Amino acid sequence: MSKYKRILLKLSGEALASTNNTVDPATLDKVVDIIKSALDQDVEVGIVVGGGNIFRGAALAEAGMNRVTGDHMGMLATVMNALAISDSCRKNNVEALVMSGFPIGGGVCDPVDHNKAKQALSEGKVVIFSAGTGSPCFTTDTGATLRAIEIDADVVFKATKVDGVYDSDPMQNPDAVRYETLSFDKAIEKNLKIMDTSAFAMCREHNIEICVFSMLEDANTLSNILKGDSLGTIVRN
Ligand code: UDP
Repeated sequence: MSKYKRILLKLSGEALASTNNTVDPATLDKVVDIIKSALDQDVEVGIVVGGGNIFRGAALAEAGMNRVTGDHMGMLATVMNALAISDSCRKNNVEALVMSGFPIGGGVCDPVDHNKAKQALSEGKVVIFSAGTGSPCFTTDTGATLRAIEIDADVVFKATKVDGVYDSDPMQNPDAVRYETLSFDKAIEKNLKIMDTSAFAMCREHNIEICVFSMLEDANTLSNILKGDSLGTIVRN
């Protein structure tokens, strides 16, 4: 049985894309299989999804758009990704609920409600949080931390392309060593780019662990970490 009862999985938008598709149905199915492997261990799963595969506010601002409008577009992109994940969940017989950080009408999804979310999670449903924090000038990493606090998650699983945090860039240095654990203070002091400083600071204050891991390379990694294997880097107090 996993030491974690409830996890918040942070997926970047790029984790859902392929070279040909902005959201790739085959990749989505793979993501849902990974989610299922956590549910099979009686672990409750909340998800916060990014939107970087579609829009990022900072990039739109660099190209000349108003930053706040760009961020609104970025947050709407996360809603699209959340709908794509929930569609794939349904197809694969996983019950899922999408919630948004700002109200969206038309039966598209519900607004974030922490009590409803916790109820749904305890019933074994997956809750997919979209629109980040609901405000511009934040990232979905901060949104993930916020939702983790709201649903009393034990840990934020941050899926990245690298299998943890290293003492130097593993792409440049073949002798780079992966940290098994790291303190929040050290992560902030070293200005590690895996999560923004506000996300680290919020997790530190609320005593929520962050596990940085590589999700898609091996579909069993999340499940094996939940069973106790040390396959990523845990940041904690
Ligand atoms: N965003 C925002 N507020 C939030 C979360 C996200 O304004 O609380 C916007 C921001 O423009 C960001 C975009 O949504 O660039 C997509 O999110 P992010 O870049 O974090 O996605 P990811 O890199 O995880 O795919």
